[in-house]
Order: sequence, then C-alpha cells, then structure tokens
Amino acid sequence: MAPQAPDRSGPAEPGRSSVSEQDDILGAMRSRWNDAEAAKLDGVDLLVYASRLIGAETSLVVWGGGNTSLKTSERDHRGRDVAVLRVKGSGSDLKSVQRKDFPGVRMDDIRALLDRQDMGDQEMVAYLAHGLMDPGGVRPSIETLLHGFVGAQAVVHTHADAIVSLTNNDRPQEVLSGVYGKEVIALEYRRPGFRISREVADAIAATPQARALVLERHGTICWGATVREAYDATLELITRAEEAIVERKQGRRVFGGARVDVLPPAARRATALAVAPRLRGRLGRSKRVVLGFDDSPGVLAFTSSVDAPTLSQVGPATPDHTIYTKRLPCFVDLARSTDDPLAVWDALDRSVERFVGDYTAYFEAHKFVGAELVDPLPRVVLVPGLGMFTAGRDRRTAGIVNDIYHHTIDVIGNASAFGRYVSLTAPDAFDVEYWPLELYKLTLAPPEKELARRIALVTGGASGIGRAVARRLAMEGAHVVVGDVDEAGAKKTADDVTAAVGNGRAIGLRMDVTSEASVRAAFEETILAFGGLDILVSNAGMAHSAPVDRMALGDWERSFAVNATGHFLVAREAMRILIPQELGGALVFVATKNVMSPGKDFAAYSAAKAAEAQLAKVLALEGAPHGIRSNIVNPDAVFQDSKLWSDEVRRERAAAQGIAVEQLEDFYRKRNLLGARILPEDVAEAVLFLAADRSAKTTGCTLTVDGGVKDAFPR
Ligand SMILES: [Zn+2]
Repeated sequence: MAPQAPDRSGPAEPGRSSVSEQDDILGAMRSRWNDAEAAKLDGVDLLVYASRLIGAETSLVVWGGGNTSLKTSERDHRGRDVAVLRVKGSGSDLKSVQRKDFPGVRMDDIRALLDRQDMGDQEMVAYLAHGLMDPGGVRPSIETLLHGFVGAQAVVHTHADAIVSLTNNDRPQEVLSGVYGKEVIALEYRRPGFRISREVADAIAATPQARALVLERHGTICWGATVREAYDATLELITRAEEAIVERKQGRRVFGGARVDVLPPAARRATALAVAPRLRGRLGRSKRVVLGFDDSPGVLAFTSSVDAPTLSQVGPATPDHTIYTKRLPCFVDLARSTDDPLAVWDALDRSVERFVGDYTAYFEAHKFVGAELVDPLPRVVLVPGLGMFTAGRDRRTAGIVNDIYHHTIDVIGNASAFGRYVSLTAPDAFDVEYWPLELYKLTLAPPEKELARRIALVTGGASGIGRAVARRLAMEGAHVVVGDVDEAGAKKTADDVTAAVGNGRAIGLRMDVTSEASVRAAFEETILAFGGLDILVSNAGMAHSAPVDRMALGDWERSFAVNATGHFLVAREAMRILIPQELGGALVFVATKNVMSPGKDFAAYSAAKAAEAQLAKVLALEGAPHGIRSNIVNPDAVFQDSKLWSDEVRRERAAAQGIAVEQLEDFYRKRNLLGARILPEDVAEAVLFLAADRSAKTTGCTLTVDGGVKDAFPR
C-alpha cells in the first residue's frame, strides 16, 4: 500500500463519500465480471481488467493493498520465448491499475529461489531487479514471490475484510475450519517477505487438494488456471466468509452497546467546528496536516460504545494499514459525551499528549538500527459521542485514513462476533510500519510543493484576480476554498483547479462577503472540509463611479458593504480560526492603486478600499503576536476576465477621464511607467509571494502590481 500522486481516474474522493459503501459491506459479494467486456481481452489485459474489478470492491482491498499476477510466455530482448510473471508493481492501486503497472519478472529467476530457505529483504529486491523484463521499470510488488511460488497461472491476493474478520480473533483455526473445512490452508501471521512466500509454496505442495490459502491477520491467496478462475475463487472464498459472519452476528450486540450518549447532530457539528482548528494546530506543529471529520452512524456507534476504549487499542485489521493509520488510533478519554468545546478540547489535548508518549515508547522499544521516528502524532482520533477526526498530508490522504478506519471498525465488529479481537503484536506492527520496503513506497511520492498541507480561502474567486489566485495557490500545492456570490462561478473555478491538480484539492461555494451569516457558513464549510485555515486572500470587490454631488447614499453604502465591511467580516472569521490553531497564517488583501492615488468620480470605491487597507495594517499589528502576517496588494486596471470592470463602470471611468470607452484599456496601459497591461496572473504572483513563507519576514506591507504609477508609489 502506498500514497500516490493524485488519482484522477478512481472514485471521486476517499473519505466521507464512500461511507455509504461501507454500510452494505456484508451484502453478498457479487461478481462484477462482464463476459462481453472480458471476451475482448486476453493475457495481461485481462489481468488488468480483473484487477480493476477487485480494486473496485473496497471490502477486498483499499488504497494500494492487494495484488494480482499472471504467468505468461513472452519474447525477451534476444527473441527467446521465456516464462514471465507479470505482477502488480509497487505503489500502484488495483482499482486504477494499468498494463504498465505490471512489471515482468523471469520465472527462471523466481523458480531458482525455491531452493533457498531464507533471503533478506534487500537481497530479494536486488535479486528481482535482475530478473526484470524491462530493466529500470516499475519495482515489482514486495509480495512478488507469493505469486511466483504458487504454481497456478493466475493468482489474486487480497486483504479482504471478511477474511481478516475470521482470523483476527483468538480462535482463528477453529473459525476457519468451521467455515471452509479442509479446502482452505491457513498460515499463521508472518510479515511479507521471502519466508512467508516459502511457507505458502510448501503448504500448497503439501496440500494439493487445497483451493485457497488464508494468511492470518493479513488476507487471501486464491488461484486458477485462468484469470477468471482466480477471480471467481476469490469471490467464492469471501462470499462464504461473509455468510458466516452474517449468521454469527445475528442477535449479538456489537461493541458491548453504548457507553456514552451520542450528541445530537447540531451539537456534533458545532463542537467539531470549535475544536477542529485547535486539533489541526496540535497535530501540525512540525508539519501541517489536513483534517477530516466524520460523524457517520457506524463511527458514532463504535466511538461511543462500551468496548471501544479497549478494542480500538488492539491493532490494525491488516498490516499495511499501519502506514496510513499507524498501529493505533488516539482514543479520547471522555467519561461522558459533552458539547462543551473547552471540555472536549481539554480531553483531546491530554489524549494526544498521552498518544505521543505511548508512540514514542513503542518506537523506542522496537526500533532497529537506522530506524527514524516518522512522527509521534496520531492519524486517527476517536471522540466518544462526537465522531472521528483523520489526519493526512492532504485531503486525499486524510480521506484514505478515514476509509481504512471504517474498514477497521467493520473488521473489529465482525471478528469480535467469533471471539476476542486480536491483531498483530506490537513488534510485528512495528516491523511493517518501519519496514524499509514499505517506506520505500513513500519515497515514490513526488516531493511536496511550497504550499502543500496549506489551506487557502479566496473570496471573489469566480473570475478575474480571484480565479487566477485560486489557480496559482493550488499549483503550488495549497488546498483552495473558492468563495463568490456567483456560486456556479465559484464551483467552476474549483472544478478547474481539481482538474489541474487532483481531486479533493478545491471546493467552490456561495459566499456573500456582506453577510455575516454567509461568511460564517463559508468558513464552517472550510473547517469541515479541511480542518482549518492557513491563508486568506480577501479579494471580493465591486466598483462604482459617480461624482460625490450626484452619488446616492445607497451606492456609497453598497461600496462600503463589499469593499470595507466585507473584508472585515472575512478577516474576523479567519482570525477566529488562525489564533486558536496556533500555526501562524497569512492574510492577503487585494486593494487597489486608488488607496495611494484616488481617482476622480471614484469616492465610494476609493474611500472603502482605503478602509480595507487600513484594516489590513491593523491586522498586521494584532496578528503579529500570533505569527499571523497581513499584507496588501495594490493592482491597477486589471481588465481581463474582470467583473469589477462592468460595461457601466467602463463607461463611467471613460467619462471621468474624458476619453472614449474603447480607449480605456490603452489609456490605463499607457499611464503606467512600464506601459504594461496588468493581468490577473500578475496579481496572483504577488499574492502568492505574500501568502507563502518566502515573505515570512514581511507584514503590514503594500506591494504594487500596476506597471509603475508614480503617484501611487507606497510611501
Ligand atoms: Zn498483502
């Protein structure tokens, strides 16, 4: 299992979206095989097809877990026909796997290893690299030999929930033989590597009548003469497990019943909103995280149950989950549920502290030479009566952690029906969590960008400068919330961003900066989606042009509502998140050249924007003790894609300057020193500078993006 580059071909997003899939996990596993589709394919293409069907079934494999293979005959570089194992490569995900993700390993080289009794991991990896059909290609799965040592043509290995439910209890042999009789071989847990592959080969050789093999606390190995046979064998094995689970669970109380009351939905929401930024700050002190919240029924039933305090501390459902979730979640010590944010925060803080101590001790107890502590903070935080928080380096990863823990809850519930839930021992879990071959997969992820792990909210993001800023910050790795009174436009910008940088990286929402309720709602959505905030780009604005003696009070007030009060409302909400989060932050105000050099017939706009600039400077004073910087960008005459420059405003400004409307853009261009046409992207570049740590020592500053207007030089 491995984190991957944004996956744009799989399901929309991990996390809450897939919760409904979980609920019917024990429905009979149905075959997704389509004869018409499959008939068009053969060889590795058919393997790719079947692999995707397996990957689509989240109760079989999640997020990079499991693998498949096919033994074929191919021409090598000298034109010889050779036997080749095509096996899933390290770091790809079955549901979106492609032909190129199946490196070929020469079967001669694999069979030669059957003479060996043991082999170190590094030696095994180096050895297999020499057997590759395409040198320098994708590294084959760390479970390659499991496949190569099984004689059958096609092999499917899954981490099926139903199977680990049968084995993760204190009497797995009894349960397995009760369900499968002698048809299925069961092997005790052993970490993936050479020796488990050797044991699988020996067990199958000793039990020729066996139809499948179960690796306790890990998963399944099924095989067949064809890809179809191996697929069907897998489904049959799992269907029988699921039926056994359903039968066993009938009439049994899950998790010992309720220990604390579940808070009502509105109280859960309010409490989660109040504590999430603080928790994000606590978990992100050395490296920021994106935080997801989940209060779906299954999560609440578990976290609020009698048995959760103990069951949650036993261990993962299957080894490779540890890479995302760590061995254990942080279970928050609350004797009763409460919607008092201070009480919840106090308990959260203490429980995270205890987790850090326990995790550090676990690392110290099991570390080997050269092992480095990844980080001692939890990825899963369970709060009785409230729900679950999950943390990751981006929203996608936080969603994967969420997905995995849903499966963990299912497995714990199902396994407990057969006996006492058991998992890997702490040393076994450590071996996998810090296994160099698993850590290798992490190195396959691209290096993090400058704004990775950051959350930015941009107002007025449906067009012009706001849209360019949202795109620019996203290109540098930020998660972006796009707000605008034009909801469709905001969503369009967010869609453009996700199309460019991956699912989960942007949301678009309606936000009227003049409405306290609308602004608050937008920030609440931001917290629920990402857990907090790092960057506010207060950009929404409107223009109005008229000489003072002819200006209606309503026009003056409308300009102030948007261009002054609007900035106050969004900045206030931002400060209410940034201060308790304790991670600092950046406020960037898009003002105007008019702040320095006002324009005739432009009083309502210029005066309100001057208020915005003054607000920004006061925020530099108030934010500094919290590491929050506040800066201003003064653009001038950005026409492209702008709603501010409506036909009406263009007409009015042309009249004020005594020129024709069609001369307007040229007039503004020629009036700056560089004779430059100012584009939204130019302004976005300045915003990026002030939003990022590259301006870490700059606050209360005004940066002009106007081509050089002498009258507007900051002074
Ligand atoms: Zn496995």
